[in-house]
Amino acid sequence: MNDHLIVVTGAGGFIGGHLVADLVRQGHTRVRAVDRKPLSRWYQRFDAADNRVLDLSKLEACCEATQDAHTIYNLAADMGGMGFIETHKAACMLSVLINTHMLLAAQKSGARRFFFASSACVYNADKQKDADVTALKEEDAYPAMPEDGYGWEKLFSERMCRHFREDFGLETRIARYHNVYGPLGTYDGGREKAPAAICRKVIQAKLSATHEIEIWGDGEQTRSFMYIDDCLHGTQLLTHSGFTEPINIGSSQLVTINQLVSIAESIAGIKLHRRYKPDAPKGVRGRNSDNTLIERIFGWEPSVRLEDGLEQTYRWIYSQIKSGADAKQWD
Ligand code: NAD
Repeated sequence: MNDHLIVVTGAGGFIGGHLVADLVRQGHTRVRAVDRKPLSRWYQRFDAADNRVLDLSKLEACCEATQDAHTIYNLAADMGGMGFIETHKAACMLSVLINTHMLLAAQKSGARRFFFASSACVYNADKQKDADVTALKEEDAYPAMPEDGYGWEKLFSERMCRHFREDFGLETRIARYHNVYGPLGTYDGGREKAPAAICRKVIQAKLSATHEIEIWGDGEQTRSFMYIDDCLHGTQLLTHSGFTEPINIGSSQLVTINQLVSIAESIAGIKLHRRYKPDAPKGVRGRNSDNTLIERIFGWEPSVRLEDGLEQTYRWIYSQIKSGADAKQWD
């Protein structure tokens, strides 16, 4: 039904902004977009949506946000890349107030579906010590030893979602996103993640003709990166499904950070001198998404090639830097 009220939190941010765009494009007539940032700092904003500025760490704000909601996508969190989450553990854990109050408010408002954006950071750190990784299966979150701060909050909130479903009948759905990237997201200011940071550094090296790039760690740490279009598709597929357990939504195309830099260099048409910073935040040594479960349940897995998605991302960041956009406004 296109006239059910859909609420997207974190709508001023990267994934939330794209989700609102997608829902509006699909013809949904009642979309409520919520974020605590002033409207002028949202990456995307649509007149067709009911845009509200609310601090969702407060229960009353969550009650206002969820009033009459049919489906809720909870994407609001205080988060960023490794450089942010390793140095802001308390701030990351305080997102528990958002998720807990959103669940309480959703239950009170009688919402039918509640989507929670969890993360691959919930996975046990012991299983991510080798760059030559065995991809992470959903069961690898236990015994629990997630990323300190951010990962613990996500794992706790996953369980809270599960118990609201079991005890209160709120239909919760939980995705474990693995590194999402794309245009219209943070690329500067300290919260940016690796793909955006590397595109920015390559662009700056090209424009300033310094021809040098700083890489965190030795660049041999491995990751997979999911393009935003795949993230949106997987998110809506899961939300409308009957599948109730946490599930990976991530790419299984594994690359080293050095390979990611090489892809950005080839998009830019340059070759840079690499300066490694061993003491910078690096996160786990290796991580990939095992997509056996998502393929079995949905017959689908993220498939946009990193080379293609990164080119879109690079072009957008390039246009922002060239136009002199104030990157700090995206903090
Ligand atoms: P983002 O930082 O771009 O967006 C999050 C938004 O939440 C921001 O606009 C922020 O202002 C808002 N927010 C924070 N605190 C709030 C509050 N108290 N009240 C209202 N709004 C508040 O991040 P994103 O990349 O779009 O991530 C969206 C969700 O997906 C988050 O829950 C994140 O943890 C999760 N996730 C993202 C990734 C990724 O790679 N981007 C990976 C795993 C999980």
